[in-house]
Amino acid sequence: MKMGTEKQTYLNYINGEWIHSSTGKIEASLNPANIDDIVGYVQESGVEDVNVAVEAARRAQAAWRKLSGPKRGEYLFRAADVLEKRLDEIAETMTREMGKTLPEAKGEVQRGVNILRYYAGEGMRSIGEVIPSMDGEALMFTTRVPLGVVGVITPWNFPVAIPIWKIAPAIVYGNTVVFKPAQETAVTAAKIVECFDQAGLPAGVVNLVTGKGSVIGNAIAEHPHIHGITFTGSNEVGKTIAQKAVARGAKYQLEMGGKNPVIVLEDADLDRAVEATISGGLRSTGQKCTATSRVFVQSSIYESFKEQLLAKIKQLKIGDGLKEGVWMGPCASRKQLETILSYIEKGIEEGATLLCGGRRLVDGELGNGFYIEPTVFENVSPNMTIAREEIFGPVLALIKVDTFEEALALANDTPFGLSASIFTQNIGKMLAFIQDIEAGLVRINEESAGVELQAPFGGMKQSSSHSREQGRAAIEFFTAIKTVFVKG
Ligand code: NAP
Repeated sequence: MKMGTEKQTYLNYINGEWIHSSTGKIEASLNPANIDDIVGYVQESGVEDVNVAVEAARRAQAAWRKLSGPKRGEYLFRAADVLEKRLDEIAETMTREMGKTLPEAKGEVQRGVNILRYYAGEGMRSIGEVIPSMDGEALMFTTRVPLGVVGVITPWNFPVAIPIWKIAPAIVYGNTVVFKPAQETAVTAAKIVECFDQAGLPAGVVNLVTGKGSVIGNAIAEHPHIHGITFTGSNEVGKTIAQKAVARGAKYQLEMGGKNPVIVLEDADLDRAVEATISGGLRSTGQKCTATSRVFVQSSIYESFKEQLLAKIKQLKIGDGLKEGVWMGPCASRKQLETILSYIEKGIEEGATLLCGGRRLVDGELGNGFYIEPTVFENVSPNMTIAREEIFGPVLALIKVDTFEEALALANDTPFGLSASIFTQNIGKMLAFIQDIEAGLVRINEESAGVELQAPFGGMKQSSSHSREQGRAAIEFFTAIKTVFVKG
């Protein structure tokens, strides 16, 4: 790969300074819509860089934890203002670096701004409770203290929102951070950290180290002075992080994959169900952990649902997410594209019927990007690979069911339990779904993807380590409780 001299090289950020990695290695971050477009060069760091970052975060801890919550919150308000001013620029970088359309990227950066403001306010809220003592003479209360240094390991699919919904609560509750973003989106990550820097955050409170997960991420998971690890990514990696954290008594929080079902019953508003299936399953090229993957449709409406769905999918405009009117961008990387194509192949081999899509798109103006057709299968049985494993791409499996009970049983027949939705007008079925569906996010007459930032986010079963991110729930992970008993 030729190195363009006009492209910026992004550095690690340690102890308030932008520095080269100790390895001297850099890597190009490419635009998946056009691989000739280099977004920037990023550091491919080594274990030594993590060690230096952890030391910086440890040193910064002493003063940062002593600062009051409201004072820490002020830095977040300032970071939000900087991010808001840079919204268009950072959204464009995100689209160039991982492919989602510009309107989606702008929405995500705005969400980052809102998350920062939410947690800035959180610095002023209660961090404990008073509990009545048995004899009524003692003062008994709880207070919360930071964990210390927290490792933040994030994926490429929400390269602004996910890091911010981890870093913001971590620091407002008094922790300091070593942040390792996905290498695919390390330029976007560097720009988030620039916002903290421009907001005047004290040196060492947030440190950025970029590089391979197997090296940098692993070093964070094993580091004896990292007391909490918050991770979003695949199940495979999440499990190894959990083992390492348990072995050394560190706290961990994992948000992982999904195989999210949507149930469409015969009394559903069909137009709405079709729209939500397309939006929930195909937006962001299906690369959302909460994306719709399995669609259970009652037999009496199955054919009309299918017809409407396929007709609407045909109209979707696919292309470079920077261009106006484009609805779906490319896959985030060659690896993603190849993984999705191999799942499609497996679906065909195992006997599912391909209704539309299934191929890489390389025609005309799509050039050398990692584009793929939106894909729909039917005749998918529950034991097929495409019904069981997370594909993380624009691939839907349509499954015909006779009853709500059958749909519910099949929807729950998965190791995952992140998000699930149902379309029906029947209040009894809604309530039964809320009660019995095995998912951390339950959505009624709404697409499976998405949750508001002030609400707890997370899954059941193998989708999550069961603690919650976002909103007030984040305090549970990012703090430890002290119970205090005072007698005069
Ligand atoms: P991934 O391969 O697990 O990577 C996630 C992060 O972990 C990246 O920063 C990666 O670094 C790092 N990593 C890789 N190997 C590691 C190791 N051995 N030790 C420590 N860290 C390591 O996942 P991904 O492909 O980026 O993201 C897609 C997955 O994320 C999907 O399964 C999706 O469902 C899940 N996801 C879940 C949620 C949720 O909230 N539940 C949200 C979004 C995404 P590098 O990539 O730089 O090597």
